[in-house]
Amino acid sequence: MSKKTYERPYIQQLNTGSMNKFGTRTEFGPVDHIDNVPVKGLIAEYGSPLFVISERTIRSTYKNALRSFKTRYPKVQFAWSYKTNYINAVCNVFHQEGSWAEVVSIFEYQKAIRNGVPGDKIIFNGPEKSKTDLMLAVDNNSLIHIDHFDELYTLSELLEGGSKKARVAIRMNMDTGVYPMWDRFGFNYESGQAWNAINKIMSHDEMVLEGLHCHIGTYMLSANAYAIAAWKLCDLIGHTKLKWNHVIKYIDMGGGFASANTLKGSYLQGADIIPSFDDYAEAITSTILNFGFKKEDLPLLILETGRAMIDDAGYLLGSVIANKTLSDGRRATIFDFGVNILFTAFWYNHKISPAQYFSHHTEETVCYGPLCMNIDVVNDNISLPLLNQGDNVVVHRVGAYNMTQWMQFIQMRPKVVLIDMKGEVHIIRENETVDTIEAPERKPEHLSTFVL
Ligand SMILES: *Cc1c(COP(=O)(O)O)cnc(C)c1O
Repeated sequence: MSKKTYERPYIQQLNTGSMNKFGTRTEFGPVDHIDNVPVKGLIAEYGSPLFVISERTIRSTYKNALRSFKTRYPKVQFAWSYKTNYINAVCNVFHQEGSWAEVVSIFEYQKAIRNGVPGDKIIFNGPEKSKTDLMLAVDNNSLIHIDHFDELYTLSELLEGGSKKARVAIRMNMDTGVYPMWDRFGFNYESGQAWNAINKIMSHDEMVLEGLHCHIGTYMLSANAYAIAAWKLCDLIGHTKLKWNHVIKYIDMGGGFASANTLKGSYLQGADIIPSFDDYAEAITSTILNFGFKKEDLPLLILETGRAMIDDAGYLLGSVIANKTLSDGRRATIFDFGVNILFTAFWYNHKISPAQYFSHHTEETVCYGPLCMNIDVVNDNISLPLLNQGDNVVVHRVGAYNMTQWMQFIQMRPKVVLIDMKGEVHIIRENETVDTIEAPERKPEHLSTFVL
């Protein structure tokens, strides 16, 4: 029998009226395996901290989402939102499942092309596309989602007099009853701006209006907002058919479905309040189906779901550097991962599980990262058992927006590994070294030496 771990004694205030340590058990157990691979083995082999991606979870989440839509609507296509996680191995799991690519910059566009996505299966979104970017997208037959009138005019000017045609959609924004409204991207519906853009495109031969697009927000807790948005897109598809006798082929509802993470300040756990894929699918597909399209004119429904598709599949493993007591008596634990690699700690209270056995005494804990910066707070109040120096933890639901928004600040970025369907582990991104950091740097000759 192995030796029990030491837990220092502590005094905990019992508040009357609320649950205390005698009234309720710690609601979680240790997480010592991910997809049957031991957490401590992963850390021993690949270092700490370490990002881990479960291929199994990605595929099952994807199939789940697809089923929710396909059972309700005949023509459905997912497009992987590159900015949510653009590590090539991750993108290719989605492409193997049948996802197109949805990109918001030329660099993401190039990644999609290099991954082997055919040009006509790349959706090019975003407010910034240069003339060269636009021409590349035209040459590749990609779907260009126009964001503003200046882009529309630029594209029109580029193609004027030539024989090339651009396949375009417009991004629309609208009042969906969720505020603040995202009106900085695309053309507004209520003011007539979107209709105006449609008419401008329809009057030009060099642009073929293939779709209407919206992306109404992110971590949307209301499925009904999608019903409102879908109706407004259908409305303009209907008007375009009436006025121009032109059938708009697809309706792209963007992303924004919530993942099961808990937002900071939320009283209830994310997992208890978020709509399911079924809820979102029901809101969107019944709106389109009930709108009044003829069967042959039913638009292809495109979804660019990012966060809800990948968050659960990502884990961050880390280690305890130290414990300390703050001046007000609260316990603080310092981990070897900070907000530099866990960007989403700014808006989520991530669930953190110890990776080894613990007893059920827990204490309110402030979790800090290793950065010498006051903002480096991973979780400002989480109930954790006593962790000792060198103990390991698993941070849950970190698959979305961390491996793209992370930064090299004070600490370098760690490895990312993927556990495949057979339980084999693959490095899918190496950790950075001082060479990675210095590679793009240049020292002018006169600054190359000094004497101290
Ligand atoms: C970011 C983004 C997405 C993905 O959003 P999620 O909230 O992660 O689902 C989809 N479409 C566009 C245009 C985006 O900018």
